[in-house]
Amino acid sequence: MSEMKDFNSTTHPDWCPGCGDFGLLAGLKKVYPTMGIEAHNVMTVSGIGCSSNLPGFINTYGLHTLHGRSLPIAQGVKLANHSLTVVAVGGDGDGYGIGVGHLVHAMRRNIDMTYIVMNNLIYGLTTGQTSPTSGLGMKTKSTPFGNPELPLNPLTLALGSGCSFVARVYTGHMEQLVRVLQEAIKHQGFALVDTFSPCVTFNKVNTHQFYKENVRDINKEGHDTSDVLAAFKQATREDYVATGIFYQNERSCYEESERETLAQPLVDHKLGITQSDLDKLVAEFV
Ligand code: SF4
Repeated sequence: MSEMKDFNSTTHPDWCPGCGDFGLLAGLKKVYPTMGIEAHNVMTVSGIGCSSNLPGFINTYGLHTLHGRSLPIAQGVKLANHSLTVVAVGGDGDGYGIGVGHLVHAMRRNIDMTYIVMNNLIYGLTTGQTSPTSGLGMKTKSTPFGNPELPLNPLTLALGSGCSFVARVYTGHMEQLVRVLQEAIKHQGFALVDTFSPCVTFNKVNTHQFYKENVRDINKEGHDTSDVLAAFKQATREDYVATGIFYQNERSCYEESERETLAQPLVDHKLGITQSDLDKLVAEFV
């Protein structure tokens, strides 16, 4: 059985003190042992951004890929080896900006993996520019007179794209974070967990204080997670910030529908070369 300490990396996070991403990292380290998942069976894939440094801070297999490209890589990993728990992570600029095309198709494709977007509603790594989820009128370095664009709503995008598991959490509420991540990882299909993860250095609007005062857990208020219209309603409400599991369905994941990869994922294919040729190849690339 794995323990939390098994997931500690020797590399310590370089995030600013108080950054919301610490909460997500702590949550993941709690979740895997409670689900009986061992570190060597997890692949963490990221794009580019402050939050995308996370694969270096957790002791699992990891890939830090290109800006907005975590999902093509993560889906390929899962198709090549169905037995891995595949978790892609990144920020709102990475996933909802440059990577949003990949996100839409990943959601409708429904490969069995989890995508956690640490959404701080700003570009942190590049020192505070307007992101796809920044609020209308928000003043940042790139919009000194106020953001003229409507923010993207990741939840309605997901619901409209056929995503089979749609959730939102705040990294400062650990009990909810752990519960939702467990359900997302357990879910047989593509799970999106939009995660409010405050950037304490550059976003002075969407702060820890703001979320502590404004979020409510809809799963404690009788929300029906099988009702997609109710999920849309919760995702667009303006009287408070709804969090929790918004929607989940049990449609077949891609692997179940695609018989060839189900019968023999890439990891089980015979290489058709000798062990000494394999050793030479490994030595060449490692
Ligand atoms: Fe976190 Fe913002 Fe600092 Fe980046 S700049 S580490 S997002 S607080």
